Amino acid sequence: MDKDARIYVAGHRGMVGQAIVRLLEAEGFAAPIIRTHGELDLTDQAAVRAFFEAERPSHVFLAAAKVGGILANDSYPADFIRDNLAIQTNVIDAAWRSGAEKLLFLGSSCIYPRDAAQPIREDYLLTGPLEPTNQWYAIAKIAGIKMCQAYRQQYGFNAICTQPTNVFGPGDNYDPETSHVLAALIRKFHEAVRRGDETVTVWGTGRPQREFIHVDDLADACLFLMRAYDEPDIINIGTGKDISIADLAAMIGEIAGFKGAIVYDSDKPDGTPRKLLDVGRLRALGWQARIPLKAGIARTYEEAAALLDDG
Ligand code: GDP
Repeated sequence: MDKDARIYVAGHRGMVGQAIVRLLEAEGFAAPIIRTHGELDLTDQAAVRAFFEAERPSHVFLAAAKVGGILANDSYPADFIRDNLAIQTNVIDAAWRSGAEKLLFLGSSCIYPRDAAQPIREDYLLTGPLEPTNQWYAIAKIAGIKMCQAYRQQYGFNAICTQPTNVFGPGDNYDPETSHVLAALIRKFHEAVRRGDETVTVWGTGRPQREFIHVDDLADACLFLMRAYDEPDIINIGTGKDISIADLAAMIGEIAGFKGAIVYDSDKPDGTPRKLLDVGRLRALGWQARIPLKAGIARTYEEAAALLDDG
């Protein structure tokens, strides 16, 4: 990909899209093409086609999606399946129609079977039932993968599919109802310390294990793959290490300076017991995550605390 390539970042206001835009700028690429939601509704097929015909991007990072944590997924299943199917179908098809050279589709680690062996290899896709709480999102993402593979097979379109593990970092969503666990816990511990609360409540049992990647590492992996990977097979993006929700809560509590007790609300769902990606394929290509979890969280905590105190 040349430095003056016409790169479109779909979803540039989201956490991942923002990080991709920051990285492209830092690496000296020409300013990417971007559109806000108000300027271009990606669920509107005609608008998306017209945009691609007019702009004719050569490379597309498809980071636009309706995303949310375990409760959001469970509460708005129709929105999750409809919006994600529409966004990805419109963007993948319009990119191919308008002659784009390459598209990178961002999937998710929740596409894998709930009880997949760990660490999860790419070829475990569609070998068992999904976790019910986020199946709507997962099915949409699986359709996106199959669409990329079908467009490659039938039309020779260079669309690649990446499956990132749970992401955190600047630009995350801190709304307690819809956020993912790491952002939710940053907010809970920060507010507890500020108010002098004696307890913080963590959902579920604390026993599930999750793997977390800093969004700057994820953006770096995406750029790496946009340059170096042209295969139909999906590829995992992770750190290779996971942590229990209880240990994560203890780590964030320590960063926040919380001295009270952590309590568990077992009325809330645990979701998938464990989600650790096998990153052997990505490592073999020569890429590895660089930001250690604790340092990444400490950095994110400072940014989030400033934001939460402001508003
Ligand atoms: P998941 O990876 O799709 O399950 O999504 P989440 O990041 O929302 O949740 C991960 C795990 O963290 C689940 O077991 C949740 O029950 C647990 N968890 C604990 N406290 C919280 C919280 O305050 N918010 C969220 N979203 N999850 C929490």
